[in-house]
Amino acid sequence: MTEPPKPPSRSHARLSIAASAKPRNLMDGPPRLKGAWRAKIITLFPEAFPGTLGLSLTGRALDFGLWALETIDLRPFGEGRHKNVDDNPAGGGAGMVLRADIVAKALSAAAEGTPPDRALWPVIYLSPRGKPFNQTMAHRFAAAEGLTLLCGRFEGVDQRVLDAYEVEEVSLGDFVLTGGEIAAQALIDATVRLIPRVLGNQASAEEESFSDGLLEFPQYTRPTLWQGRAIPEILLSGHHAKIADWRRGMAERLTKERRPDLWRAYCAKHGRDPEEDQEL
Ligand code: SAH
Repeated sequence: MTEPPKPPSRSHARLSIAASAKPRNLMDGPPRLKGAWRAKIITLFPEAFPGTLGLSLTGRALDFGLWALETIDLRPFGEGRHKNVDDNPAGGGAGMVLRADIVAKALSAAAEGTPPDRALWPVIYLSPRGKPFNQTMAHRFAAAEGLTLLCGRFEGVDQRVLDAYEVEEVSLGDFVLTGGEIAAQALIDATVRLIPRVLGNQASAEEESFSDGLLEFPQYTRPTLWQGRAIPEILLSGHHAKIADWRRGMAERLTKERRPDLWRAYCAKHGRDPEEDQEL
């Protein structure tokens, strides 16, 4: 097995930019490494970014230029003295809808300097009506050069601009958020951690939940005995093959119990009987 790539060292000159309470200025941010993955986010609330993406591993990778973030404020594209971006829904009903012409101007601005091929540069509208986001999608997005994310607000976006710009709709799950910003951060977080060197130890991305269609096995750490509860003995045995067997067995059992949908797909892929008993 090859050694996983070493995480960028903390003492490296580029990382000497100390953490500060001041928000990172996105425009004057550190130069991104050539060809680094990029996210362009169209939002009425640019101040929501980088948000949690500026913390921990994703934040360090952002400082290091392994990926880059650009927010495009929707407001200046609005019309009139108040820079209106929305209007009443055609056909009546509650709420407001983001206007096609205004959103189109922002999408065109975002398209500058990006490949028109949607496979190389997906253009996404975060939407509860979209295809549910999953790890396979995160891999597809991480393999692209970058992506544009449109964050909706109010009742959403005029359908015509989604059709005209071949926008892919992606949902975070079967619930309704107030806006697309949290969904965009979740999508970006899951995607950038798959970019090489963003996680210190790439092996952890290969072993975790969903990587083989299974949920992850239970994890333990010290103390070995806590409130009368011991760590499963096998994990302290130093017997790597047996530990790997135990972990796979636990991952299978958990997946079967908690996610019958994933379990059936896994069994079909591996030619297994989904009804077979788990030995452990
Ligand atoms: N009226 C819409 C919901 C609008 S919620 C409907 O019923 O489908 C306002 C915005 O929040 C949406 O435009 C979308 O960008 C975002 N949003 C809400 N729920 C979401 C989810 N589950 N996944 C992704 N984005 C979501």
